[in-house]
Amino acid sequence: MTLLKINNLKVYYYTRRGIVKAVDNVSLAMNKGEMVGLVGESGSGKSTLGLSIIRVLPPQAKIISGSVIFNGTDLLKLSEREMRKIRGKEISMVFQDPLTSLDPLQKIGDQIVETILEHEPNISKQEAYNMAKKALQEVGIPPDRIGNYPHQLSGGQRQRVMIALAMVLKPKLIIADEPTTALDVIVQDRIMELLSALKKEYGMSILFITHDLALAAERSDKIAVMYAGHLYEYGSSTDVVNKPLHPYTEGLIESIPDVFMRKEIKEIPGQPPDLTKPPSGCRFHPRCPYRMPKCSREEPPILQVNGRLVKCWLYS
Ligand code: ATP
Ligand code: SF4
Repeated sequence: MTLLKINNLKVYYYTRRGIVKAVDNVSLAMNKGEMVGLVGESGSGKSTLGLSIIRVLPPQAKIISGSVIFNGTDLLKLSEREMRKIRGKEISMVFQDPLTSLDPLQKIGDQIVETILEHEPNISKQEAYNMAKKALQEVGIPPDRIGNYPHQLSGGQRQRVMIALAMVLKPKLIIADEPTTALDVIVQDRIMELLSALKKEYGMSILFITHDLALAAERSDKIAVMYAGHLYEYGSSTDVVNKPLHPYTEGLIESIPDVFMRKEIKEIPGQPPDLTKPPSGCRFHPRCPYRMPKCSREEPPILQVNGRLVKCWLYS
């Protein structure tokens, strides 16, 4: 069952350098209880897409057109007041750096209690406190740490607190933007395991934003690949990783290091483009080994190929 359906979304930043076309005509659907890994190199528009869903974009960003249908409602048509009821309760977000999201001067338990009471004013303070304790326990933080300040916890524990904050009201969707990038690989794996467990236990959907395709593929049901503000491939993780259709996805997979050194690492040549002046036609054409004359002239349409979405002239 579809939980989120983004249709033809365009989000631009108005900067002194010009208009940055960060998300340009992106459509993407997510089902209930599904983890979707949104991958792509830095600057491909992943975070902008995530921030657009809950409408917490910086002031220079503007949603130009499109819709974000969540559970049947277009979030882009809601007032800010209505949106505040959705954020934290129906959709919550986990960011890369918990220190910027947690209040350093407030105990972690109080921060969770505050979030609960903001959305559920009929719950007593004691009840909210018990919920906070339970949430901490669920993310693997001993409940007796409830009186700790963020600085008394390790980086991995702080990220767990962020996840406790994000899941305490059992939202339908968690957007996790590079939640493990600042952590070492072992802690990273535990955090990913925790997100997967929440998905299973509560049927939450998770949009997992990362530049790390290998990490996304391990846990996600589906993979969406973004490049230069466009969605280039979307399909089941197994299909996308085992048989990438889009040349950009292929390039991302070839650039993943193999711990057993069984294969040669091949970097994608060149750099992602400046999105104030994106390349004509297919935005990947300057870097694509398969480009044809048509690729620089005309933008490819999104095509359905073997149950997958692919934006490439090779399949038309
Ligand atoms: P990263 O992993 O580096 O965050 P990303 O794929 O999430 O990359 P975005 O952060 O969404 O990509 O950036 C998409 C484009 O929008 C980039 O060209 C970026 O420079 C630009 N951009 C992002 N935030 C802003 C901003 N606040 N003001 C102006 N341009 C921005
Ligand atoms: Fe390469 Fe052309 Fe496909 Fe773009 S449309 S990815 S340039 S083959």
